[in-house]
Amino acid sequence: MSPQKPPHDVVIVGGGSAGCVLAARLTEDAGTRVLLLEAGSSALPDAVAHPPAWPSLAASEAGWGDTTVVQQASGAPVALPRGKGLGGSSAINAMVFARGHRTGYDSWGAHGATGWTYDDLLPYFQRTETATSGAPGRGTMGPLTVGPAEPPNEVLLACLDGAVETGHRRAFDISGGLEEGFAPVDLNIVAGRRQSAADAYLAPALGRPNLDVVTGATAHRLIFEGTRCVGVEYGADGRTHTATAAGEVVLTAGTIGSALILQRSGIGAQDDLRPAGVDVFHELPGVGRNLHDHPRANLVHRTQRPVPEGRNNHGEVLGTLRSTADAEGPDVQIIFIDIPLPNPVAPVQNGFTIGISPMRPASRGSLRISSADPYAPPVIDPRYFTAQEDVRAVLSGIATARRIARSAALAGWGVEEVSPGPTAVDEKSLADHARRYFGSYCHPVGTCLMGEDAMSVVDSGLRVRGLDGLRVADASVMPSITSSNTNATVYAIAERAADLLRSS
Ligand SMILES: Cc1cc2nc3c(=O)[nH]c(=O)nc-3n(C[C@H](O)[C@H](O)[C@H](O)COP(=O)(O)OP(=O)(O)OC[C@H]3O[C@@H](n4cnc5c(N)ncnc54)[C@H](O)[C@@H]3O)c2cc1C
Repeated sequence: MSPQKPPHDVVIVGGGSAGCVLAARLTEDAGTRVLLLEAGSSALPDAVAHPPAWPSLAASEAGWGDTTVVQQASGAPVALPRGKGLGGSSAINAMVFARGHRTGYDSWGAHGATGWTYDDLLPYFQRTETATSGAPGRGTMGPLTVGPAEPPNEVLLACLDGAVETGHRRAFDISGGLEEGFAPVDLNIVAGRRQSAADAYLAPALGRPNLDVVTGATAHRLIFEGTRCVGVEYGADGRTHTATAAGEVVLTAGTIGSALILQRSGIGAQDDLRPAGVDVFHELPGVGRNLHDHPRANLVHRTQRPVPEGRNNHGEVLGTLRSTADAEGPDVQIIFIDIPLPNPVAPVQNGFTIGISPMRPASRGSLRISSADPYAPPVIDPRYFTAQEDVRAVLSGIATARRIARSAALAGWGVEEVSPGPTAVDEKSLADHARRYFGSYCHPVGTCLMGEDAMSVVDSGLRVRGLDGLRVADASVMPSITSSNTNATVYAIAERAADLLRSS
């Protein structure tokens, strides 16, 4: 009797930004049978669709509720939200849709990754989107409809005018990866509703007979025959199940999820696995290392004039700039936010926030399993602001943001900086404030670094090094973080991964 053929060619683990793209693209070929496993639900809270509600989502059932270990910089843990459910983080994120600046991708080859420069990625960026701006180099036929807020919040337009007044360039298309300066950024909002990866990619594919989707399915570990990955053990409905793949298993469980699944499967650094009670199956010291993220410091302002209620994602206008004249590319982002975020100085009822983030942070941290139990919380340590250059970049951004806040364009709003406040003027006070009160911008990357050196986890084809039948294709493979918000790049990585899988 011949062994039974597995019912699926490809098993995809994680139905977030990348997983939805892959499930949809691979099943365009009616001969490819795909199973998508997702730990979270297909029925997410109604607030997911309502753009201004996104800050409430991380604490809902659509989020995993992770926090980091106590951070050296702040002496406190930091919340590090990630999405759980179909759409993953694209279902709870802040909907900013922007490529990083081209200079960031051009450095991805430093670990030996080939074929991932901005120019290499351009067709994949274009494939994802229908950009309403019609800007040169943007996509016109992709599943995601992206464009600036319509109409933008008046206070954010005043901030944009203030940036231009204080000498900054007014960009035409800040989302395209080629420009620097300030402009309204593209958003994943269509007709007033969020458009997640599940909305744009997965929903149109759900009726295909060659696509199976199982939600409430948490991948425990990978199954191997020799060095070949042949399937996934997962938990659902209180039982343990096995999914087998005739072709490949693709991890798209995100920067936190994918590295944890590898580690639980015995793939990683023995110093991480043994203390957690997991035997080393395949030593790959880079798994979980190179964790990094954009930390964001906030200047919170009170205004005398009422700020109109935010109807979009609250952060509709941003700028990218260089902290020093010799920076290789833009390395600071300033984002204008139409609500006064919570701050450590005084409550603010009416006002706005200017967020400042180092876009090319040098700080590197780690992620590891705390136990072999797939439901045990991970140990997440991004080591924010441990590299001094990240603090310097933020200080440069704060100086710029303060000039903008004091511009004539904002004078009519009666602006008063509440946090850190006007008495914080010397570098030490400002640096201390940034290190103490920053938050995560929720862009973790890098735990399954792509490259060809000893610390790389996947090769340039996204195959896990030293094993067969296993790839990783999500935010975790980025060797270094993009110089803007990360989601647009994750979509492009997944589009390219679909091509790589189809051609192998
Ligand atoms: C609150 C928030 C705000 C953000 N704002 C922005 C923004 O405005 N613009 C931007 O560009 N980026 C933003 N980001 C980041 C961006 O959304 C992510 O970089 C991107 O979505 C990551 O995609 P991914 O496919 O790698 O992972 P995810 O989209 O996180 O998908 C991973 C999926 O895998 C599932 N999973 C994990 N472990 C398992 C397991 N063991 N078994 C089965 N399934 C599993 C998860 O539930 C999840 O659905 C934000 C993120 C958050 C959380």
